[in-house]
Parts: sequence; structure tokens; C-alpha cells
Amino acid sequence: MLELDLHDELFRNLRLFQGVSPESVEHVLKTCSTLSLCREEILLAPGQSNSSIYLLLSGTLRIHLENLGTPALTVIQPGECVGEMSIIDNEIASAYVVAAEESRLLKIHQDALWQMINVSHQVARNLLFILSRRMRFTNDVIVESSKRQSLLEHYARVDPLTGLYNRRWMDESLSRQIQRCQRSDKPLSLIMMDVDRFKNFNDTHGHLSGDFALITLAQTLSEMLRPGDFAARYGGEEFIVVLPETGVGDGMTIAERLRQAIAGTDILTGDGSTLPPLTISAGIATAPPATTAEELIAQADKALYQAKEAGRNRVLSAS
Ligand code: GH3
Ligand code: MG
Ligand code: MG
Repeated sequence: MLELDLHDELFRNLRLFQGVSPESVEHVLKTCSTLSLCREEILLAPGQSNSSIYLLLSGTLRIHLENLGTPALTVIQPGECVGEMSIIDNEIASAYVVAAEESRLLKIHQDALWQMINVSHQVARNLLFILSRRMRFTNDVIVESSKRQSLLEHYARVDPLTGLYNRRWMDESLSRQIQRCQRSDKPLSLIMMDVDRFKNFNDTHGHLSGDFALITLAQTLSEMLRPGDFAARYGGEEFIVVLPETGVGDGMTIAERLRQAIAGTDILTGDGSTLPPLTISAGIATAPPATTAEELIAQADKALYQAKEAGRNRVLSAS
């Protein structure tokens, strides 16, 4: 039996009864009851069947999706309700509802709710409003979570120091790029470059200046590349540039242009001062004759090694 005064503040604050004259639903409400939850007591759990809507009179409830250890999806304040979804579609509860503090609720069985809807259009409208608000909230959560997901994917593919793609991205996408060129019968060239005597540079100017040198180098690469070309930081001071639809001749020209640009660009350090440019050595390989990503990288790496052996600050081709 309900010990709630239908005319009191609590009743007027309940979203489900806003604009509803207490007299119209009084006879049904009298069949409902209130219940109290202690702090951390669970009201609903995923998979549990539920046949009532619960209107929060006082206290706070938390909603958790997977388990109670995960952060709360949202917090329910007095006036709001829970359980409405599962009684409308007759499905099991899909989330945990737990009391964040001592809480008091009005429990309305689904039969009583349908009776109220039959006698009061306003109750039906309020319920629709509650449901649409719930759906909007769910949509917002989905949008937020997909934004977060994209951001995580971005960070998984991008080198934080230079903003270029990282090795993981290169390992994942190089084969795809090669296959795409093979399908359209076009060559693909790959430049592997490594900073010359970078250890000396760090020893002379400090590791932080070394970081700025890598940033400057990455900027030079990004500025010089054509749309459709890709640059990645493959290791510490090792970079790969992928040139789709580019044969060894044009690839050599581009690699040589990159080498000269890097050798001609002063390094901008954090305090606004500059340091003299670095040089790079590079090896270039082309598919075909290489057919796989591994082969292409191995051939470019070998040519790079030969460029180092030959005196550095130069580009050599694998073929
Ligand atoms: P070589 O011409 O033969 O390539 O000589 P090197 O000194 O460049 O080659 P080595 O492999 O001996 O040294 C590479 C150096 O690159 C050592 C390492 O500290 C430095 N390095 C790698 N990653 C970073 C980085 O993120 N920041 C800085 N500042 N230095 C890095
Ligand atoms: Mg190296
Ligand atoms: Mg080096």
C-alpha cells in the first residue's frame, strides 16, 4: 500500500507525473508501493527480468553497462526513473542499476502503468518524453564512444613526435598499396632513409635538439610529398616514403629532391634558434621487380646500407 502523499512535492517532481492531475491516477497509484535501497544495493542487473518502472523519490542511482567495476554510464537523480525500457518491450534489463546512496523509489508494476496510460494521456506523453530523452542520451553516448575510438585508432597509427604514420601503420598498409598498384599494372617505389651520424648530433647538441631535428625532417618530408605519397617514421631516425604509381626513375628523382631539401633545411629548435641541417642516406626499391612488402623493404634497406658504405648523404637504388 502506498504511503506517499499524492499532493506533496515528491509527487509533483516526478517526471512521469508532470502535468498529471493526482486524482486521475490516484486509484491506480494506491496499488503501488515504495521501496528503500541501501548504498550500493543493486536494483536491476543485466539479464534479469523486470516488470516494474521505478521512480526515484530521493537519493541517487548509478547505471553501469558491463559490470559495476566500470565507470558509471550515467547518474539518475530524484524525479527520474529506471526500468521503463524493459517493461515496455518486455525484454530483460540491459544494465546494472545500483544505489549510489540510500535511496527511495516508487515501484509501479507494468499493469498499473498501462492502466494509468489508459486513464491519462499526459502519463503516456510523459513516458514518451522519458523514452526519447533516453534514446537521445544513448545516441550521444554512441557518438562520443565512436569519436573516442577514432582518436584511439589515430594514436595507434601515428608517431607522437613527428605526426607521421608509424611503423605499425606502414606494416599494415604497405602490402595493400603494393597490391593496388599491381592490380592497375603500375609500379610502386619505396624510399628508406636514415639520418647520418645522428648519434654524434645528439652527443653534440643534446637529445632534445635531436628530437627537434626529427620534427624538422618530418615537416620537410610532409611538405615535399605529392598527394597520394606516404611518409612514416619506421624507427628511431629511420623513415620510409612510399610512392605509389612511381617507377624507379621518378622515384630516384624524388628521393634525390628529398635528400637535398633535408640537407638544405636548418633545424628549428624549441627556443626559436636554429642548428645546421642534417643529412640522410637513402635506398630506393621498386615493385616490380619486388613483389611483397617484405622484399621491397629488404631491398631498400640493402641499398640504404650501400649508400652509408659509399660515404653517406646520397641515394642509391636497389636495381
Ligand atoms: P649512421 O650514419 O650510421 O646512421 O650513424 P647514426 O649515429 O645515425 O646511427 P646509430 O644507429 O649509431 O645511432 C642512431 C641514433 O639515433 C642513436 C639514438 O640515440 C638516436 N635516436 C633514435 N631515436 C631518437 C629520438 O627519438 N630522438 C633522438 N633525439 N635521438 C634518437
Ligand atoms: Mg638507424
Ligand atoms: Mg643513422
